[in-house]
Amino acid sequence: MRLRFAGTGDSAQVPCFGCDCPACQRGRLLRSHRREPCCGELVVDDCLVLIDAGRTDLAERCERQRPAAILLTHYHADHVQGLLHLRWGCGEPIPVYGPKDPQGCADLHKNPGILDFQPGLKPFRPLALGRLTATPLPLNHSKPTLGYALSDGASRIAWLTDTVGLPGATERFLCEWRPDALVIDATHPDSHRIPRNHNNLSMALEIIERLSPSRAWLTHISHELDAEAMRAPLALPEGVELAADGLEILF
Ligand SMILES: [Zn+2]
Ligand SMILES: [Zn+2]
Ligand SMILES: [Zn+2]
Repeated sequence: MRLRFAGTGDSAQVPCFGCDCPACQRGRLLRSHRREPCCGELVVDDCLVLIDAGRTDLAERCERQRPAAILLTHYHADHVQGLLHLRWGCGEPIPVYGPKDPQGCADLHKNPGILDFQPGLKPFRPLALGRLTATPLPLNHSKPTLGYALSDGASRIAWLTDTVGLPGATERFLCEWRPDALVIDATHPDSHRIPRNHNNLSMALEIIERLSPSRAWLTHISHELDAEAMRAPLALPEGVELAADGLEILF
């Protein structure tokens, strides 16, 4: 299984419009330090499955390889806005799976075009996509949101955005499931003390410590966290790193 971080930013992205902090200035100068909306591309047996669809160049990227399916964590714009254009494309319908959310985003459900929205996923009920199994895991966020326990039979990755902490049932599932790798929301620096919808760095690290995967990547990163990491290196435990756009991992 191959995982590519196609975007690792929060909803403001890096650079954030109008901001002159060091991280945003660096992002304007160096493409490698930009952060697009948080999303991933999973390839199992040459079959591409997208996790979230917030990149605005999504349709263009799908020209290279047509996704077999799209898994949505939730219907906030930074996770689905690429679908608003992709839907008016041509060819076979693309199945889209996600949480039960009658509101969805804008008129996506009313005018789905080539997107074949499947009934809302049931938490903890595994979905088979070829050799890939995706088990939906409820998360704590301001809209109905699902993380995914992803396995190709050999490796296990848990994708956990957007969330603040973890619901007890999800944490219990993951303790038993024992992921090899964790991809987790770490939007805010610790100066953001009482986050409501996203983890700050310490909260993400506490979850990683409790679940003890061999590797973990922090994602959904804000320009504030990047700016803090530029002032002084973040104290990250071994095996934990900040994800970056374009980073590719083979499992
Ligand atoms: Zn988000
Ligand atoms: Zn900034
Ligand atoms: Zn969100």
